Amino acid sequence: MKPHILVVEDNAYSRELLCDWLELQGFTVDSATSLSEALAAVKRCEPAAVLLDVQLGAEDGLSVAAWLRLDKARQHIPVIAVTAHAMISEQERILKAGCNACISKPVDFRLLLEKLNRWLTVAGVMNHNARTEGPMPE
Ligand code: MN
Repeated sequence: MKPHILVVEDNAYSRELLCDWLELQGFTVDSATSLSEALAAVKRCEPAAVLLDVQLGAEDGLSVAAWLRLDKARQHIPVIAVTAHAMISEQERILKAGCNACISKPVDFRLLLEKLNRWLTVAGVMNHNARTEGPMPE
């Protein structure tokens, strides 16, 4: 049984694309379109990982990452940010907010699967402080 993934994305097309693709990979999914929906969904479905659109309309998606990192029961949940901005400064802001990794739009699905598998593995085998990208665990 593959893990349950929460997709947080306000754009309907992008959200459905991500959810459909994850289901094709064998994951089960839930989705949310706003900060409040995301927080409710995390509590309801206890996802193994979160795919997080950084720009949720007027809301800053990174609040979800910050909230998870402050929640002792959920701070280990991998968060992979999806951003329309490829600049280094944006990537730094994303990692600093507590996301484990960051990918740019349009999403490279091969890269996304690689990061998802990597961070799900890390969450399962390493301590909860493994927050930023480093070598793969042995
Ligand atoms: Mn968006």
